[in-house]
Amino acid sequence: MIDFDKIINTGNLYNFHSHTQFCDGHAPMEDFVKEAIAERFTDYGFSPHSPIPFESPCNMSMAAVDMYINEFYRLKNMYGDKINLYMSMEIDYLGTQWGPANEYFDTLPLDYRIGSVHFIPSFNDSGKYIDIDGRYPAFKQKMGLYFNNDIKSVVECFYNETISMIEAGGFDIIGHFDKIGHNAGHFQEGIENEDWYNSLVMRTFEAIMDHHLIIEVNTKAYTEHNRFFPNIRYFEMLKKSRATLLINSDAHYPQLINSGRLEALKLLGLI
Ligand SMILES: [Zn+2]
Ligand SMILES: [Zn+2]
Repeated sequence: MIDFDKIINTGNLYNFHSHTQFCDGHAPMEDFVKEAIAERFTDYGFSPHSPIPFESPCNMSMAAVDMYINEFYRLKNMYGDKINLYMSMEIDYLGTQWGPANEYFDTLPLDYRIGSVHFIPSFNDSGKYIDIDGRYPAFKQKMGLYFNNDIKSVVECFYNETISMIEAGGFDIIGHFDKIGHNAGHFQEGIENEDWYNSLVMRTFEAIMDHHLIIEVNTKAYTEHNRFFPNIRYFEMLKKSRATLLINSDAHYPQLINSGRLEALKLLGLI
């Protein structure tokens, strides 16, 4: 297991969440490594969206996993004296069907694992998992198609799936744990101010702490939407907690590997 606390405490530049040609990223892995070296990063982790048991435009196919592993070792061999590279996946949770605890992931030589919820089950097409993580226009359309426009139930489902994933285990870092807040807040303004919403976040946070997970502060949407995951409104709670906090850019482009990082560190009182 990587000593994340050591990496963080030495003030080094790192990123443990990024997407490349193997899923929905927009550049080859090597370009991310070159950029990370140019920006003087010491530690860099790749986390393609894991294979899942159905076709998805964002997820890596199971057939591509060997290629990913081979490319990782090629790059580690080539650049390993300049930067510490790590192989991971951002693993999707699909209820009892699939998730980080699935034994498939034990067969892969991953250095660490991120667990994230991007899919929840449709309310009117049982068993079908729907991606609710995309941009708002797609989310809004799916609200009508699959969720009867019932935003409260969608939010409840997202956090309940997240808590089930945490309880099932099999991962080290919880990815963007309140991600639904962004699309839900567009659908119903002020939803994150509501008591029921807040208690779901608190229940999720307690589960994260009970299972000693590393919490990611995801900066991907900061530049475009002025938003972190978790929301800045939970930063005081994070600061008071004893959780290890990783600032991850969730970059899909090499030039964004460091995006939002300084702002997050400042707001968390870490610099
Ligand atoms: Zn994600
Ligand atoms: Zn991601």
